[in-house]
Amino acid sequence: MTAGIIVGIDPGHGASSAGAEAAGLVEKDLNLACALRLEAALMGTPVVPVLTRRGDINPSWAARAEAVAGARFGISIHFNANSDETVCNAEGYHLPGDDLARQICLAGVHGMPIELASTKLFETSAAGWKSRAHRVVSAFAPIPWALIEVAYLTNFGDRAFLKTGYALDEIVCGLRAAVMRGAQIVGG
Ligand SMILES: [Zn+2]
Repeated sequence: MTAGIIVGIDPGHGASSAGAEAAGLVEKDLNLACALRLEAALMGTPVVPVLTRRGDINPSWAARAEAVAGARFGISIHFNANSDETVCNAEGYHLPGDDLARQICLAGVHGMPIELASTKLFETSAAGWKSRAHRVVSAFAPIPWALIEVAYLTNFGDRAFLKTGYALDEIVCGLRAAVMRGAQIVGG
């Protein structure tokens, strides 16, 4: 019997940090809904998920890092916005050279429902990563972090999908695929 693989799950934002908002959709709430469903979807797997928040609060970066102590890697869940409303679909962000996070991101963006799936992976520069500190805990919890931007709230098509009753369940399939890919790599 091997011990479980602890994986950090970080729903971005919370409380007064709402994140992206458009047409009644609020990022912080979507992030948390996805994280809680992802936690449930990982039951029965070797993964032991640990969440950085479970309610409408905005823990400090240090508190988020503490919550994921012992994790082999982490996944941050966000939803995006852009002044260009044509920009759409899922994106994955990882630090340069972090092949584990890259693989996790790839499994995540490929595993999204067809309405959101993409091949969009981005290496974030060290400076850029820090400048986006509101979105990452990487500097505080020095483990591989995959940041998945699930969809663009500012895109009509993404939004139409998010407003369907089955969107979150299908999105969680993609997030689960990302976590399981990471678990497969670190567990193998
Ligand atoms: Zn965000």
